[in-house]
Amino acid sequence: PPPPSTRHLFGDPAEVRALRGSLLAWYGRCKRDLPWRALAAAEPDADRRAYAVWVSEIMLQQTQVATVIDYYNRWMQKWPTLQALAQASLEVSVAGAGCAPCARGPSSNAAPCLLEQEVNELWAGLGYYSRGKRLQEAARKVVSELGGRMPRTAEDLQKLLPGVGRYTAGAIASISYGQATGVVDGNVIRVLCRLRCIGADSSSPAVIDRLWDMANALVDRSRPGDFNQALMELGATVCTPKAPLCGECPVKEHCRARHRKLFGKPAPVPDVEDCGVGGCPLCPPAAEPWDSSLGVTNFPRKAAKKQPRVERTATCVLERRGCHGTPEYLIVQRPSSGLLAGLWEFPSLPLAQGLQEEKQREVLADHLRACTGWPVVARALQLIGEVVHIFSHIHQTYVVYSLPLDGDVALDPALAPSRWVTEEEFHASAVSTAMKKV
Ligand code: SF4
Ligand code: ZN
Repeated sequence: PPPPSTRHLFGDPAEVRALRGSLLAWYGRCKRDLPWRALAAAEPDADRRAYAVWVSEIMLQQTQVATVIDYYNRWMQKWPTLQALAQASLEVSVAGAGCAPCARGPSSNAAPCLLEQEVNELWAGLGYYSRGKRLQEAARKVVSELGGRMPRTAEDLQKLLPGVGRYTAGAIASISYGQATGVVDGNVIRVLCRLRCIGADSSSPAVIDRLWDMANALVDRSRPGDFNQALMELGATVCTPKAPLCGECPVKEHCRARHRKLFGKPAPVPDVEDCGVGGCPLCPPAAEPWDSSLGVTNFPRKAAKKQPRVERTATCVLERRGCHGTPEYLIVQRPSSGLLAGLWEFPSLPLAQGLQEEKQREVLADHLRACTGWPVVARALQLIGEVVHIFSHIHQTYVVYSLPLDGDVALDPALAPSRWVTEEEFHASAVSTAMKKV
């Protein structure tokens, strides 16, 4: 492909200096008070600092800051260091020996391991369940293979730690070690695309690569951690997706998209030829040029999104009377990989397209027989209603049935990990948000 016109890149050192200065000054005035920022600023030990930033970055992947704060505080209270976290996971998986503290054998299906459950429960509300597990695995690796010392550069962090990608590595290294390395996340993509009028598909690898180059060129050399956080904060609070507050923006003087909106034409750049000639790979495609009704939100642009997959799942709330007459509900554990890995749910079964209600009942009854070992009959299942839940790529409808059971029913632990819980225990368990809705 032809090289991008230099008009998109940060070529003027004086402009770069001014932009850094305005952004850092704004960050000093307006930054949000967040627990991981406080920890990173106060912690003298580099490994502990890196761990504190790492946990926050993993939690913040795909989850709102406001939701993360509480989980973060609980997590850091429970596992304040890498060593503490590594220990928690070591105890559950020492060479297949089972869990010592809760005396669970390696192949037992009976009781859930308490520690494993603890980690899952902490993450359950965050929505992305395998992240916690991977964080544990990586912590274990640092303790057992790297002598408890976190890798000290973005390159090594990415190379040596499972689950740490380019963004997380850059964030840890710049914030905890002061390495002058840039970061690119959704917020940074938006801000950079607007600052430099980048209208090519911002999810394409070629554009992402250019954005990394730009972030690395732009990052402040003496305060890289603050600079990166400032750029992301700007995207999160000012240069927002739908209604950016350009009037309050500390870098508005440097923003090409704003210039274009105000003056109706691209900002003049001395000694630089115009884009579009010979097909600039960073400009909007010729077929979809600047749309003046969109203003700065012309940028960034993405290729059309895929429609979410539509799925239906039958789920059954089995209810019995516990020892004091308290209602109890049966939950079973999902497989340890895939969507919602290791979480607990009411016994559920994905439904084939266009299944009639009668047929739904039958397949659900079959499934319940198979996973509980009881002679469940289809007509005993009561249809309660439907619950819709949107996962990242799936539009899921749960068709909810209920089945009250009389008397004492023993579970067959050989069939699937399952347990009876009261309503209160249910809410304290590692269950997904969708199941809570059910
Ligand atoms: Fe974003 Fe507006 Fe600031 Fe440009 S001026 S960076 S579009 S908030
Ligand atoms: Zn261009």
